Amino acid sequence: MWRAAMIVTRFAPSPSGPLHLGHGYSAVMAHDAARQGYGRLGGGRFHLRIDDIDAGRSRAEYIDSALADLAWLGIDWDGEPWRQSAHVADYAAALERLRAMGLVYRCTCTRADIAESLTAPHVTPGTVYPGTCRTLAASALDITKGFCWRIDMARAAERAEQMGGALTATNNGTVTVLDPRDHGDVVIARKDAPASYHLASTVDDAAMGVTLVVRGADLTHATAVHVLLQRLLSLPTPDYIHHALVCGGDGKRLAKRDAAAALSDLRSAGVDGAELAARLRVSQMPVGYSLAKE
Ligand code: GLU
Ligand code: ZN
Repeated sequence: MWRAAMIVTRFAPSPSGPLHLGHGYSAVMAHDAARQGYGRLGGGRFHLRIDDIDAGRSRAEYIDSALADLAWLGIDWDGEPWRQSAHVADYAAALERLRAMGLVYRCTCTRADIAESLTAPHVTPGTVYPGTCRTLAASALDITKGFCWRIDMARAAERAEQMGGALTATNNGTVTVLDPRDHGDVVIARKDAPASYHLASTVDDAAMGVTLVVRGADLTHATAVHVLLQRLLSLPTPDYIHHALVCGGDGKRLAKRDAAAALSDLRSAGVDGAELAARLRVSQMPVGYSLAKE
């Protein structure tokens, strides 16, 4: 029983760039939700996950600096950092289950192919994959140049709803009904990586025993896909908190390219990390930064 009551959160940076103030805010939010409690008792576990399945973009130096940034902020995590690159067999097993259910298909489209087909007149405007490879026979695909696996979203959503009714999750304290269909046939395993973010994150959140996912509002929309995968793979659905994003002086959300907001720069400039964390904790941004109003 005590396990069910304990909050387990995680902070999951991708080591493809330095952590910026927005990551710092997210880490503090996730850490505090476990340690101080969120609607339940505190004293929960907080884990650090390194989302490094993208071997081409991950750099060891960014992992090192992320760990140093968190320590500087006074954020402590439980256990060893979870490395996604060490869990690719789990993603392969999950993909295999989806394959066995007949819900994924190989796609050989290049970015250029997709861009071109999206401008065709019969395609609804938007950025979703037009489903080109869904209807092709496996023998018609030339897989010599590699392929990714996509989910057949219409079938998958229907199957999931047959399995357990409407997809729902608690987001920011409110139960919401989620429909993943407008995402189209998202990538489940990439051409150049053993899993997509959606699959790896969903599989790992369950494997790590995460009960509350705390992350930025830019990922609110992805939750529908994650809850779909949880249902299909018989994984528990955690609660979600999507917090406001940190913006720079221009009012735009911080991105990796905003080197000015890199935590490592503040750290080497002698800024007091514990003091910064204390401010972030009460949503007080440093001068020149603000939280987006949603
Ligand atoms: N590595 C992902 C990111 O940095 C994690 C997102 C998540 O928290 O689910 O965007
Ligand atoms: Zn395709």
